Amino acid sequence: MNYFSTRNTTLTRTASQAILQGISEEGGLFVPGTLPKLDLCALQGLDYPHLAAKVLASLLTDYSEDFLLNAASACYGKNFGPGAKTVPVDQGLYALELWHGPTCAFKDYALQLMPRLLVEAKRLNGDKSRTLILVATSGDTGKAALEGYKDLAGITIAVFYPSHGTSETQRLQMATQTGENVQVYAIEGNFDDAQTAVKQVFTDEAFAQSLQQKNCHLTSANSINWGRLAPQIVYYFASYLQLVKEGAFKLGDEVDFCVPTGNFGDILAGWYAKQMGLPVHLLHCASNQNRVLTDFGQTGAYNANRTFYKTASPSMDILISSNLERLLFHKSADASLVTQLMGQLMGKEKCYQLPDGLLKAILQDFTFGCTPEDECFAELSNTWDRCGYLADPHTAVALAVARRRKDSNTPCIVLSTANPYKFSSSVLSALGLSVSASDFANMAALEQATGTCAPAQLKNLKNLAVRFNKIIRPEEILSVARQL
Ligand SMILES: *Cc1c(COP(=O)(O)O)cnc(C)c1O
Repeated sequence: MNYFSTRNTTLTRTASQAILQGISEEGGLFVPGTLPKLDLCALQGLDYPHLAAKVLASLLTDYSEDFLLNAASACYGKNFGPGAKTVPVDQGLYALELWHGPTCAFKDYALQLMPRLLVEAKRLNGDKSRTLILVATSGDTGKAALEGYKDLAGITIAVFYPSHGTSETQRLQMATQTGENVQVYAIEGNFDDAQTAVKQVFTDEAFAQSLQQKNCHLTSANSINWGRLAPQIVYYFASYLQLVKEGAFKLGDEVDFCVPTGNFGDILAGWYAKQMGLPVHLLHCASNQNRVLTDFGQTGAYNANRTFYKTASPSMDILISSNLERLLFHKSADASLVTQLMGQLMGKEKCYQLPDGLLKAILQDFTFGCTPEDECFAELSNTWDRCGYLADPHTAVALAVARRRKDSNTPCIVLSTANPYKFSSSVLSALGLSVSASDFANMAALEQATGTCAPAQLKNLKNLAVRFNKIIRPEEILSVARQL
């Protein structure tokens, strides 16, 4: 099966080439040419690594299933604790907990596997170059990528995060990162500034030439890379099959998923799962106060020209949701339309209007809702008081949207994307408890108040040495990249 660019369908790549390249030369994203249909019955009873191998083998067709099984077994083993488990929260409402991995965020699912996919991609393509990975992160991606790529031979990774866009815990997770091949920089500005600057490095021709001379190859670990997206499809199947096994509903019954959304990667993985045969009715796209996608769902106008809010769910503080481009392409099958719309979004206008019919096609599979800050905190607190479920603010944004869905007869699975202890101070204030200046004191207070346990890898951060504390301007990213 081949992949092609959302902006040029004549540009085709194998799966491994798409993963090696990350983003296509004209700025488009790689998408699968066809989506395989999976037989749900045959997937029943598989453990997570075997399920991952089956799902991924159908998409990454130039990788062997043996390789995929070995890779999935190695990375989704004991460092994922109980794994992707789905727990009941309320009547017909479930949480798919994706934060039992090494960095306590769902991005571990993709970023523990992706480095292995990349190393194998180099082998498959006889690529002996050094790989340079540049990551723009709003917090969680950075740490998860650093953990996944640290000390891999032939790879250098640099992570750029907005200097005031992360929690203290998130910042420390990155600033204390170990590994000889890692670099971490804070960027003055917000996540979009960082992401836009990193994207420009990718399309800078002079830089591309200088890399070529050094036999160095540039790629990204952001969810614009297909290798990031594909592993996320697996847990939609896993969650559904777990609930079938437990008798929550029957094989073939439809469910909804509600996904706390930033870059539109996680929710798009759910849409791919639906195309591959998972009985999904609706995907509810949950935004925080940065409701650019909510307005898009109401009007068909994507308008990034707006106030940017810093919220308690920083990984969703995004105005340009890059993966929406893939959905626009799949729904329109029109690369020149996508090129035109993305040109408008990234140009002076910073906005575009969908042509007639395209929004309607999107609304067949998606709803769009948002949760302002006060409502997010109320949801977090009520869900703890009434259901005994402690959610982080990202998950609470989605829980509130899920509770507002029209058809409450269809079970709804909310993707729980971060461990609440990653955002202890916000969780404490949502619960009406006093917050201290130190995240570590807040972790302890949260343990005391709720009788739950903070994960060891977060508690231990205070014992680690800070290795990275540089703050740079977005326009300095290129010169930093030249020195890597
Ligand atoms: C990254 C992230 C999200 C948003 O996921 P996207 O794929 O960017 O839509 C939501 N919650 C948490 C905790 C995250 O780290």
